[in-house]
Amino acid sequence: MARRDIAAVIVAGGRGLRASASGDPLPKQYRPLAGIPVLARTLHAFLAHPAVGRVQVVIGADDAEHYEQSVAALPQRDGLLEPVIGGGTRQESVFAGLHALRNDPPAIVLVHDAARPFLSAALIDAAIAAAQAHEAAIPGTPVTDTIKQVDEAGRVVETPDRDRLRAVQTPQAFAYPLLLDAHARARGEGLSSFTDDGALAEWAGAAVTVFPGDIHNVKLTTQTDFDAAEQRLRPENRLTTRVGTGFDVHAFADGDHIWLGGVRIAHTQGVTAHSDGDVVLHALTDALLGALADGDIGSHFPPSDPQWKGASSDRFLAHAVALLHARGGMLDHLDATVICETPKVGPHREAIRARIAAICGLTPHRVSIKATTSERLGFTGRAEGIAAQAAATIRLPETSTGPDWL
Ligand code: MG
Repeated sequence: MARRDIAAVIVAGGRGLRASASGDPLPKQYRPLAGIPVLARTLHAFLAHPAVGRVQVVIGADDAEHYEQSVAALPQRDGLLEPVIGGGTRQESVFAGLHALRNDPPAIVLVHDAARPFLSAALIDAAIAAAQAHEAAIPGTPVTDTIKQVDEAGRVVETPDRDRLRAVQTPQAFAYPLLLDAHARARGEGLSSFTDDGALAEWAGAAVTVFPGDIHNVKLTTQTDFDAAEQRLRPENRLTTRVGTGFDVHAFADGDHIWLGGVRIAHTQGVTAHSDGDVVLHALTDALLGALADGDIGSHFPPSDPQWKGASSDRFLAHAVALLHARGGMLDHLDATVICETPKVGPHREAIRARIAAICGLTPHRVSIKATTSERLGFTGRAEGIAAQAAATIRLPETSTGPDWL
């Protein structure tokens, strides 16, 4: 399906009274959230998505200036159509957006609330796929609270089976002709208060399918929602994923054991080293320091410093983990490859994983140990030494300041 076959209608016509309880006269979709207007965040999700060709915003009659200020914050506006003015209800506003697309009709239209700025590219993908498969599809998440239906007096009338209930979100995705026709028919019958296009399509007789929504795709409704969103977006509360790599080599020498991943392994040789020469722990330590962009094992533990002579290398790795924790980060995964002809690593793999996990405070399923020979090539192939390479995946609080699109 070509890009222009998929359009989005963004409903930004509301007055957002519930969020304005603080006295803020600005409708909630135009309010800044961590420095960027909510509408700009929402539009960016669609404009940056490779499958969406056009974005039609529907605004309130008095909001042209607010709209211009919001779109001025966008890094790019390719595919953004001129806004159209909505009606007195959400349903009328959606119709205005659909109507504006009629001369160059898309195959699929996504209808989304401007006040849901946290939708992901994956959710847009899911909406498009669901509309291609079902013609009328809406995202929904399982309900965690038990829901009661009550009468006017507050007496419980019914308790629906929670497993069959879904809390419905946007973007709702439809075959464009189907939704335009459903709206036209509702208007024709004088109905104008459908609050959700899924309900309108259902009323028109369409089979509407629910696909999995995203719990992060919240609708900003109350001041509490804004406060929570601001909190989430604060740079120090956002974690970004980083990956670091490490590599280490030690030469074989006379001896009867080597250390690998904190495990003592009997061998026909030992290694030459200032410390215990554990290539796995050294490579992992460097990988962690790399992810932290904080020097290398040599700068933290200089070989010239006598206190590290013969040191057990678990101290190096534990120190790197402590540096990570001191910066508010978390360790997600460690992966190492041992390169040698002998000894065989396989029989020690689980012990090594468990030992590294214990040093780092991880569960062993977050630690991977692999081994390879170098096909008798090079120094490892000639069994002159042993090497290891490693990768560490961490999450670290963002320390940059200023508006960010994440
Ligand atoms: Mg080393």
